[in-house]
This record gives sequence, C-alpha cells and structure tokens, in this order.
Amino acid sequence: MIGLFGGAFDPPHNGHVALVHAAVAHFGLERVIVLASERPGHRSVVAPAEARLRLAGAAFPGCDVELDPHPRTIDLLRAREFGDAILLIGADQFRDFPAWKEPEAILERVRLGVATRPGVAVQGVPGVSFFEIEPVPVSGTMIRARCARGESLAGLVPPEVEELIAELGVYRGE
Ligand code: ATP
Repeated sequence: MIGLFGGAFDPPHNGHVALVHAAVAHFGLERVIVLASERPGHRSVVAPAEARLRLAGAAFPGCDVELDPHPRTIDLLRAREFGDAILLIGADQFRDFPAWKEPEAILERVRLGVATRPGVAVQGVPGVSFFEIEPVPVSGTMIRARCARGESLAGLVPPEVEELIAELGVYRGE
C-alpha cells in the first residue's frame, strides 16, 4: 500500500515528518507520495509553489515529492491512478473532512488514515483508519512567525529545511 500526504507545506515541519513516520510504521507503507499543493483550494500561501516543493523535498528525503496542481483532493484522485492507497491527514483536517469537495467520492477511491493523539483513537468509521502520533505542537503559521522575527527553528523543522528556508529567503518579511 502507498501513502498519499498532501499539504501546503508552507513550510513543512516536524509535525508533518512525525505524521509520515508514524503512518509508515503503522500501515507498513511501501512508499509515500508527498503532494505539495500548487494552489490550495481552501487557504492562502506565502511561499511560491516551487519553494514549497523544494522545502518538502528537504523534509521528506525518502518520499516521492511532487507538486499537485489540483486545488481539491477529489480532482487529484480522478486525474491519477494510485492503486491501493491511503490518504494521510491530521485530526484537525479530519474534522473538516465532511466539508471537503465530494468526501464520499474520495472514500470510494482511497482509505483515509487519520493521525490522532494517543488515547483518542476513534473506531468504526467505514473507510477510515486511525493511527496514533505523539503531539508535535508546531504549525506552518508558527514557523513563519518565528522566521519573520529572525528566531531559530531548531527542533521545529528538520535542519535541512531550516537551511533551505534561509537560502530561499522566504518568510522573512511576513
Ligand atoms: P498552517 O499553519 O500554515 O495552516 P499546517 O502546519 O497546518 O500549516 P498543512 O500543510 O496545511 O500545515 O498541513 C498538511 C497536513 O499536515 C494536514 O493533514 C494537517 O492536519 C497535518 N498537520 C499539520 N500540523 C501537524 C502537526 N503538528 N502534527 C501532525 N499533523 C499535522
């Protein structure tokens, strides 16, 4: 089975990395395709798509990392054939899942793998599997704010991501 992990990755951080590691271990995934959304359908982004793609490449060295031109997940799943795949999302996104474009059609094509904090795993939702991750209290928003203040990102993003953020000069003037 392969894992699909999409996001804005503006920038990718240790919460994202922990989610992928936990999913690989829990589901025994052969590979993970990381999809950096070129134009997310539900939010704005700060860094250009090419920069976010490079940052995702630095954050997920063992994964296939691509730009995803589809603003909505169902359009990606209609355009591509992924075979036996599980779509990995965080618990916050799972809460919003009913409001995604055509959630039933998504579940006809892939399973959903939802990262939850230990002890709160929910059972019995058809097509949805839960896996536990220790909470990593970091978000893209927090990282961008720290960058704008010139603060260190140590322990919040992989070192390669911190270096590349500095090299690309993104998030400086936010
Ligand atoms: P922002 O603060 O810019 O909204 P974000 O960190 O929430 O960014 P996204 O790229 O929108 O990042 O998230 C991609 C996926 O990663 C989503 O499925 C989201 O639920 C999950 N995710 C985000 N932050 C964490 C975290 N700290 N731990 C585990 N999963 C996370």
